[in-house]
Amino acid sequence: MTEFAHKFSEQAGINSLMDDLGKALAGDEPMIMMGGGNPGHLASVQERLREELLAIANDPAAFQRLVGQYDAPQGEATFIRALVDLLNATYDWGLTPENIALTNGSQAAFFMLFNLFAGPLQAGGKKQILLPLAPEYLGYADAGLGPDTFRSVKPVIEDLGDHTFKYRVDFEKLELDEQVGAICVSRPTNPTGNVLTDEEVKKLHKLAGEWNIPLILDGAYGSPFPELIYTEVTPFWDEQVVLCLSLSKLGLPAVRTGIVIAKAEIIRALSGANAIINLATGSFGPQLVEPLVKSGEILSLSREEVRPWYQAKMHKARAVLKEALAEDCPWYVHQPEGAMFLWLWFPDLPISSYELYLRLKARGVLVVSGHYFFPGMEDEGDWPHRHECLRVTYSQDDEQVAAGIRIIAEEVKQAFANA
Ligand code: PLP
Repeated sequence: MTEFAHKFSEQAGINSLMDDLGKALAGDEPMIMMGGGNPGHLASVQERLREELLAIANDPAAFQRLVGQYDAPQGEATFIRALVDLLNATYDWGLTPENIALTNGSQAAFFMLFNLFAGPLQAGGKKQILLPLAPEYLGYADAGLGPDTFRSVKPVIEDLGDHTFKYRVDFEKLELDEQVGAICVSRPTNPTGNVLTDEEVKKLHKLAGEWNIPLILDGAYGSPFPELIYTEVTPFWDEQVVLCLSLSKLGLPAVRTGIVIAKAEIIRALSGANAIINLATGSFGPQLVEPLVKSGEILSLSREEVRPWYQAKMHKARAVLKEALAEDCPWYVHQPEGAMFLWLWFPDLPISSYELYLRLKARGVLVVSGHYFFPGMEDEGDWPHRHECLRVTYSQDDEQVAAGIRIIAEEVKQAFANA
């Protein structure tokens, strides 16, 4: 077996998660789906996109462009131009079309970026991706072709009172060296809903500058769209930064459109990798959303429809959690500052989070065990925290989410009671 075949036949975390979701959806048993990162179905956004799709279907030239043409490996040129204009008008970033490439979902962009910046070197030695704040997105975990692609750093855990905590980057432990090829963080963070402060981003940016390596900022849930951010932060880009965006969490996970904003040299390398792997990026997402980018409506939809919708769901889910767990056992939730997850921490949980996940699945509630979200921390010994957390998605129906949270609370309390 080749190393490549071996790697992709292994049961990677992301693979087992997507498999689990697929099987649960296809099964006969009703399941409360609080496991995946599927966005909710927001009627106003879907209706707006349906209008655009009908307009394309009714226009033979637009339809021909939609289905009948390969785009260049960098991506659909008119959409890229519209993005450049929108981002420059909004943030004054001074972008040109050479600064943007499109990929088939941002997951594909991460695969290419991680292997551009990490792995064995021609001259001997290797480079790694530094994840400055664990826990971090499980989809990164197996995206490196070489061994030990990631190293990550334990966070500082700040108790904010009222069963709430926040992870902060531990800059005292964050050590860079020649082996670090890039720094990468998701902001907002999947799985925790954390949003790195501007100060943290500034410090990471400074470190990236000192070592002359890229700072990859994963904005899949971030600014300027879908803007699932509930705190005040400033969007940030310059040539040191590789900003990855996506249309998925706006409500288009099925069209698979990722957007990478970086200096021209990185965009050229990424376009080259994209040509080899995909030939071209799909045009569907870019063409469907182009009018909304040209008019700026993508920003108002994100700020006025998408963000408040998720924020209201977050508040509801959090209130149910508080009522269901009360003072009955040790529990914390990460301050939910963005994305679509509650990250629960049960200090001294008598069973592993994986066992808890299995018990919940048996009761018809699908969540994700927190232990998956510590890529690059294999050498950290047995930090119990890694096995005491759960990720709970609140993007689906509020009643279902509330029912799921009540079952989670019952199971956790029972685990503590039986210890
Ligand atoms: N980054 C983060 C933090 C995510 O949570 C996800 C998906 O859940 C992705 C990237 C990849 O999303 P997509 O490939 O749909 O753009």
